[in-house]
Amino acid sequence: MAQLSLEHIYKTYPNGFEAVKDFNLDIKDKEFIIFVGPSGCGKSTVLRMIAGLEDITDGTLTIGDTICNDVEPKDRDIAMVFQNYALYPHMTVYENMAFALKIAKVDSKIIDEKVHEAAKMLDIEKLLDRKPKALSGGQRQRVAMGRAIVRNPKVFLMDEPLSNLDAKLRVQMRVVISKLHQKLGTTFIYVTHDQTEAMTLGTRIVVLKEGVVQQIDTPQNLYNKPANLFVAGFIGSPQMNFLKANVVLEKDGVHLVLENGVNIKADAEREKKLMTGGYIGSSVIFGIRPEDIYDKKSFVEAHQDTAFDAHIDVYETLGAEVYLYFNIGDTKVTARVDPTTDAKQGETTTFALDLKNYHLFNKDTEIAL
Ligand code: ATP
Repeated sequence: MAQLSLEHIYKTYPNGFEAVKDFNLDIKDKEFIIFVGPSGCGKSTVLRMIAGLEDITDGTLTIGDTICNDVEPKDRDIAMVFQNYALYPHMTVYENMAFALKIAKVDSKIIDEKVHEAAKMLDIEKLLDRKPKALSGGQRQRVAMGRAIVRNPKVFLMDEPLSNLDAKLRVQMRVVISKLHQKLGTTFIYVTHDQTEAMTLGTRIVVLKEGVVQQIDTPQNLYNKPANLFVAGFIGSPQMNFLKANVVLEKDGVHLVLENGVNIKADAEREKKLMTGGYIGSSVIFGIRPEDIYDKKSFVEAHQDTAFDAHIDVYETLGAEVYLYFNIGDTKVTARVDPTTDAKQGETTTFALDLKNYHLFNKDTEIAL
């Protein structure tokens, strides 16, 4: 069983920099865990501590039933795949994949079986005699994975394995990795900058900022129920729109009034939170995703209570969808609309909001309400 537990993990580098602060995570066997966050937030540091390539300053790392803080990397039963592949240039693909097993004095017949089995899984059987320099980036990445697979590790660690590949290859390799996870039935821990990789591959995603965990959740929950303003802005592209909303008490209950005058009656759950939290008369941050702002006539007519006019600054078409950029007060807003839209750059369009999915955040603590 390859469950892992990280309890109150801290990392302070020798220069005094605190890269990871009180990191807690229980990983179940066969999970596909993703670490995401902006550059420098500590993703690789956590991964390297799990691998044993970096000392743990404080806290407990358990793999299976063993506390591993002081266990040598080679004894952790973990395989790591890096973004730069780290293949031996003078060895063939076969030799690269066989290397670790050879060192471990595994029988050559078994090595041969394992290398061929992994090569088949990754569709690189025809490349086994080539040297790395005669391979494309995507092929090299497959070899690097093959080298990890033959060792049959309990846990796979991957640090931005696709970041050196072009966009098309990344998509292909994403599918390869997803299938690999299903086939191997092993625990994967994967670091990426790429939201699409995170959302499509992860069973759970860990969002980090400045060494501190912001939220650990399924891709769907991160998208639909972000715990704070940072997660709401980080997950989703184009990012969620954030507007200032005044909280006012009217005859029929609590309302949110946006800068452009749009007046929204808060739903019962939010109304309770705003009342008990003492928000009446102050302001909160109102969040709405670009796909929840509509310009379709039938939608606008049916949602007159949230309708407003806006001057389109930029019209951007992506084929299957159109992004419209405009301002509400001083705030830049993006709407993601259907390509059949009548909106034109430089003209005024009427929009309405779908309030099924709006978000509210405390403007000081930035925590979701
Ligand atoms: P990226 O996405 O850019 O790879 P990351 O989230 O993986 O970033 P880490 O590599 O974990 O970030 O680094 C976290 C922080 O620790 C960064 O601010 C980095 O500069 C710092 N750091 C990393 N290694 C060291 C080191 N050996 N000494 C001091 N600081 C370090």
